[in-house]
Formats: sequence, C-alpha cells, structure tokens
Amino acid sequence: RLSVPDRVTIPFIEGDGVGPEITAVMKSVVSKAVQKAYQGKRSIDFLEVLAGQKAKDRVGTYLPDETLEAVNTYKVAIKGPLTTPVGKGIRSLNVTLRQTLDLYVCLRPVEYFRGVPSPVKHPENVDMVVFRENTEDIYAGIEWEAGSSDVQKVLDFLASEMKVKNIRFPQSSALGVKPVSREGSERLIRAAITYALEHNRRSVTLVHKGNIMKFTEGGFNAWGYELAKREFGASLDEKKRTFIVRKDGKPLYIQDCICDAFLQNILLKPESYDVIATLNLNGDYVSDALAAEVGGIGIAPGANINYETGYAIFEATHGTAPDIAGKDMVNPLSLVLSAVMMLEYLGWGEAAAMIKKAVSKAIEQGSVTSDFHQAMVKEGRPCTAVGTEAFGR
Ligand code: ATP
Ligand code: MG
Repeated sequence: RLSVPDRVTIPFIEGDGVGPEITAVMKSVVSKAVQKAYQGKRSIDFLEVLAGQKAKDRVGTYLPDETLEAVNTYKVAIKGPLTTPVGKGIRSLNVTLRQTLDLYVCLRPVEYFRGVPSPVKHPENVDMVVFRENTEDIYAGIEWEAGSSDVQKVLDFLASEMKVKNIRFPQSSALGVKPVSREGSERLIRAAITYALEHNRRSVTLVHKGNIMKFTEGGFNAWGYELAKREFGASLDEKKRTFIVRKDGKPLYIQDCICDAFLQNILLKPESYDVIATLNLNGDYVSDALAAEVGGIGIAPGANINYETGYAIFEATHGTAPDIAGKDMVNPLSLVLSAVMMLEYLGWGEAAAMIKKAVSKAIEQGSVTSDFHQAMVKEGRPCTAVGTEAFGR
C-alpha cells in the first residue's frame, strides 16, 4: 500500500460552478485539522492544478497534460466538480481522469450524521460503504445509435458470424455492449472484501442482476464467491447458509442480493447491509439512492481509487450546481467529507476523526447550509442557516 511522508503534496482541481467555494472551505478545514492533530509534525501542501473551464480559459485546453502529470507524480488528488464541455470530442473529464489512471473503484461511504434531514424513518440504521466498479459494464460506452448503418452491420454480424438466432430487432434499435470481465470483477470484489476485513465490517453483499443477465451480472456474482473462497478462505456456514470469512474469530459474511430487491431492502431494512460490491450501472443507481437516505448530494462524499497502484482522486459526488454558484449557499460538506476519506486513505485517521466530529457537532447544533435548513425547519428542529464560507473558519 501507500507509504506516506509527513509532508504531503496534494494536487487539487478547484472545479467549476460551486467548485471554488467548496474547495476553499475544504482546504482551510483540512489544513487546520492536520495542524491541530499533529502539531506541525505533519502537513499538507495543496498544489493547484487546472482542469475544466478554468483550464480552458487560462491555457486553452480542458485537461492540460501538466494536470495529469501532477496526479501521476503525487498519486493522491482532490477535485471539485467539472463542467463537461458539450460536443468537443470529450465524453467527460471525470471519465477521462478515471480511465487514464485506471481508477477501478468508485468508493461511496453512506453514513448518517444525526440531525441531517432524511426521507426515511430510521436513517441511523443506514451505514454502508459502496464499492462500484468503475471501468466496465454498459458504461464502457460501446454503443451504436438508433438508425445508423452500423446497427444493421452489428445485427447481421451477430446473425451470421456469431450464429445468434432470433434477431428480430428493427434497424431503428440502438445497441450497446456490456463487457464484464473476471479480472475486472475480481479486483473490485477483492478491494471490497479487503476493506471490510480492515475496517471490521460485518458483511459484503454482491449486488447484481444475475437472474436475468446470466453471464455478465451472473458472472460477477459467481466470480465473487469463487474469489472469496480462493483468496480469503470463505467457507459455507451450513446453519446460516451463507459464506463466511473469518478474521481473528470474527465472521465476515459474504452474501448477494438481486439489485431490484436490494433497492427495496435499503428502504425496508437497511441494517441488513454493510459493504456493497456492485457493477458500474447498478452502482450508479445504488449510490445515489443510498446518498438520498442520509442527506443527499450536499453531503455525499466519494473517491475513485486504484488499490494496486495507489492512485486516488477524492471528489464530491454532485455536479457544478451553476444555479447556486457564487451565492455562498452551497453545502461544502460533500467535499469536506471527501477530504476526510482522503486523510483516512493517507493513514491520517486522527485528523480525519477531528473533522468528522466537527461536522457532527455543526449539524447537531443546526448550523447548516440552506439545503438542509428548509427541511430542518419543517421538522421543527432548532437551526440557523449559515453561508458556505463560514464552514472554513
Ligand atoms: P452538472 O451539470 O455539473 O451536473 P447540476 O446543476 O446538474 O450540474 P448537480 O450537482 O447535479 O448539478 O446538482 C443538482 C442540484 O442540486 C443543483 O441544482 C443544486 O442546487 C443542488 N446541489 C448540488 N450540490 C449541492 C451542494 N453541495 N449543496 C447544496 N445544493 C447542491
Ligand atoms: Mg447533474
């Protein structure tokens, strides 16, 4: 894993829209916490690198080589949301960063802070960590547009070369390919099980639609169990009819759940789930649904990680939110909590814990940005709306 010096350089991308506001708060909070936790023995030098609109304006390109080089050099970076230029030959800057560095895990912790407005009755029972596969699946973007001549070519190819029978789709069909590999599934699931063991979690649930997509989603599930047995010594507990990995006598349950049932269960019995491992598209739905249960995008942190190379980019999960940019209204906790994840990743748990405690305290006191304020007023909680900037002080 990562060897971390006491003085770390972290490249940061300020981001577009609300990016500058949340980045400023994040840097201030992190610097103060690190100073306080380690009394000057450890420190972070934040190094600004450009991407997005700001990069385009300053140096004429959305993702300068220097930015990729800096992330390459320092390995761990943090970023604000980026505007994806429309129709400029780039699918998405975020995707480009992820692909270039092969950040195969999208990590999304889902944790409830007491006092946060939530649509569910018992949000305190929601405590999960989602490992979403980040490089494969229908998200790979291998698609053919409806009505294009390629569609007919692909259908003809499937019928004649691949001997796929009963191809009855009209040429007006759009087509997409869903690649799911054993290697890709294994490294994601390996990361999830390793994380669960290191963090003393209770279970890992493989979330999939293998009942319908037998080879892709079903493959993910089957490879997951095989890996748990082969690499982690999982064995079947006959009584509980579930697989168990043991560490120091403590059980870690390996289970699976069909994705549609899972989306019901996280509302009905969220306490049944802990670490989640899932494919790209399921992971997209699941992470946002879970985030909504514990306060939504204003507070949801995230990271994209390659556990083999150590490369990691930490980021808020929301977009640039241009409607509230520059109004001192944006909730900076999304990026502040992403920075908490970053500090934990660096092994600087003391500073991370300090920030989390301060966040809990602010929310319990009702010092919140307007996204939470309205809902808290409705719930009859004492609270005060504070501006974004105030969180940095
Ligand atoms: P993009 O095009 O970059 O995705 P967006 O407007 O879709 O930008 P989202 O992040 O998807 O931005 O946000 C949707 C809505 O949620 C925004 O209109 C914004 O008001 C709100 N929102 C997003 N992030 C925050 C935040 N951190 N604090 C408060 N409100 C937020
Ligand atoms: Mg959006």
